[in-house]
Amino acid sequence: MRIENETFVNRIAKLTGKEIYRCFQCRKCSSGCPVAEFMDLLPAQIIRLVQFGFKEKIFSSETIWICASCETCTTRCPNEIDIALIMDTLRQECIQEGYSPAQKNVYLFHRIFMASIKDNGKIHELGMIKNYKQKTGTYFEDIKLGLKMFAKGKIKIFPHKTKGLNDIRRILDKY
Ligand code: SF4
Ligand code: SF4
Repeated sequence: MRIENETFVNRIAKLTGKEIYRCFQCRKCSSGCPVAEFMDLLPAQIIRLVQFGFKEKIFSSETIWICASCETCTTRCPNEIDIALIMDTLRQECIQEGYSPAQKNVYLFHRIFMASIKDNGKIHELGMIKNYKQKTGTYFEDIKLGLKMFAKGKIKIFPHKTKGLNDIRRILDKY
């Protein structure tokens, strides 16, 4: 069921903290964000849109998918607003409310990442690369980087399953 606009800010505040009401648009979050130049809306603008309940504009924005969850914004905010958590929550709400992610490949990457954790208890890079490339058809992108990582032993051929895998799967299923 879709959330009505007037309750949107209350729901996000409930999930992420009432501090969101304190934002006074100093833009420290935006000026410190390492990927701001790739965003269509700055983090401070996203916070303002949440306050005003403009969820359609937020959910059609690339920003929430470009965010790398680095938490620089959260540590810089003078009002202790957890902007990184808000971005994460907005991604989840976007999907739960049935909106199409503005960055489909980023969403696909999230899903492949979680599937790898469910299969092995941790990520298996080569398996993830294979699945991602098959689904996006980007077979030759980043090939040089991949070879470099392989040469340095960062990409293992076979997956290694974690102890307690069933517990991890139970947690993921519950979540
Ligand atoms: S740093 Fe905090 S108060 Fe300043 S614009 Fe960003 S969210 Fe608002
Ligand atoms: S958590 Fe996201 S929005 Fe915040 S600084 Fe990092 S990339 Fe930018």
